[in-house]
Amino acid sequence: MKKKEINASHTPLYREAGFNLQNSKRTKEAFAAELNHAHEPDDYIYSRYRNPTVVAVEKQIMELEGCNWALLVETGMAAIDVAVSVFQKGAATRPWLFFHEIYGGTNSFIDTVLIKRRNLDVHRFYAKEGLYDFVELERMLAEIQPEFLYFEAVSNPMLIVADVKRIMELAKQYNAKIIVDNTFGTPYLWKPLLDGADLVIHSATKYLSGHGNITAGVICGNDEELMKEAIEYRKWAGHFLSPDDAYRLGTQVKSFELRFQKHCDNAMELAEYLENHPKIGEVLYPGLESHPTRKEAVALFGDKGFGGMLTFDIKGSSDEDKREKCNRFVAALEDTIPLVPTLGEVDTILLPVEPVWGAKYPLPGVIRLSVGIENIEKLKGLIGEALKNI
Ligand SMILES: *Cc1c(COP(=O)(O)O)cnc(C)c1O
Repeated sequence: MKKKEINASHTPLYREAGFNLQNSKRTKEAFAAELNHAHEPDDYIYSRYRNPTVVAVEKQIMELEGCNWALLVETGMAAIDVAVSVFQKGAATRPWLFFHEIYGGTNSFIDTVLIKRRNLDVHRFYAKEGLYDFVELERMLAEIQPEFLYFEAVSNPMLIVADVKRIMELAKQYNAKIIVDNTFGTPYLWKPLLDGADLVIHSATKYLSGHGNITAGVICGNDEELMKEAIEYRKWAGHFLSPDDAYRLGTQVKSFELRFQKHCDNAMELAEYLENHPKIGEVLYPGLESHPTRKEAVALFGDKGFGGMLTFDIKGSSDEDKREKCNRFVAALEDTIPLVPTLGEVDTILLPVEPVWGAKYPLPGVIRLSVGIENIEKLKGLIGEALKNI
């Protein structure tokens, strides 16, 4: 049966590795068109090049980010690889500048792939006591003259919200392209491409899919040349989202905005609850008056919300006491708010910071919470109960 004859009401799941090109003429045309790196080709050839189920979901994400193209890949890390590799041009490769307050996996990618294996000239801009020094950033941009500047609007796990307008102005002043990892911000709170970013990447494993049942990544942009480079790299480096996972992502991304609003509402309410709890020390949530970068958060997100992540610590008489109490808190919630090292799921999950970040954040008793979309009274009840028993 020909696919055109099936009156499907949803995007079909095309699992085929290769497509039926029928004859030599059509094959020749399809391969010639492939050289133009079209985002949506007339004829599909091979799923690693492009797949119609995947393309349909890319269009959904283009609408969310408000951009001209989006390319799906198998993980957030793969999206980062594609985004930066677009700017790797052999001997002509210029230096790259990365913020240091970014996802830990990205820092490991920089160390183990970009520096150790590709021997690239990579520089890092470090925050000082959690804040960005713009004089220092400008000095580095002027000295290094990087091809691009890479940053995240919301840092992890301390949830520092950057003055992104200022960062982007500086980058443009020094002719650096701008790459943003918008996994934490999400297009609900901020659409960096509308503000002048050149590429945006997401770990779609997190909020975009939202159910913790796939891994996926996406690279978004407007510039046609960057798109062609990204398609070329994705194809030949073998980055590809399976049609099954794309199908699932396409279904789940439809509820993204609805989910994210609830993540924000729940996180705000829980942050206030925890801040007033006698057994809790500091609560870091960009929506709280007490947060060091609340001003930046309001400037960037307006009244839409402040995201679904919050970080707090448990009070204790000593570091050892805090660690002990943290362990008891985590154990008490084992079956209800489990310790899962990911984020952005509909279910609330927690992560003790110290055992994961180690020397970078030697913070006894600090817990990062990825707040889900459950009934907020139920959530407060579970956490309140666990705190009673520590
Ligand atoms: C998880 C994450 C990534 C990596 O994504 P994977 O899907 O796990 O490969 C990149 N950036 C941020 C901010 C993340 O949270």
